[in-house]
Amino acid sequence: MIKPIVKDTIFLSRKSEPATQKDNNVIEDLKDTLKANSDRCVGMAANMIGYKKRVIIVAVEMIHIVMINPKIVKKAYPYETEEGCLSLEGVRKTIRYKEIEVEYSDTAFKKHRDKFSGYTAQIIQHETDHLDGILI
Ligand SMILES: [Zn+2]
Repeated sequence: MIKPIVKDTIFLSRKSEPATQKDNNVIEDLKDTLKANSDRCVGMAANMIGYKKRVIIVAVEMIHIVMINPKIVKKAYPYETEEGCLSLEGVRKTIRYKEIEVEYSDTAFKKHRDKFSGYTAQIIQHETDHLDGILI
């Protein structure tokens, strides 16, 4: 189901809870809502569509990767950049890391530990921040 984008910064400032296999609807709604906003959005966290669950979705070229309970376990090479967010107006400055390593589960709840760099790493950092209630 395509969901409206939450813009309430008080709701968005709350930490999300771990997701479980019961949260399949969250995953499906994230996929549908990202697809519907793909002209202006490259990633989404579940709280942006109203679910306080630790699920993010990241667009890597044409593929949408769902990460359940993602955790950034390593980061290297900080840099300053500017980002926008579908939930916020305008762009804001932030510090990101060029290379990260992430632990997460896929939609079959299989565990992964993968390295990401560049733009994909930046999107993952932005979306995992959302899970901790951090806005840029
Ligand atoms: Zn955002």
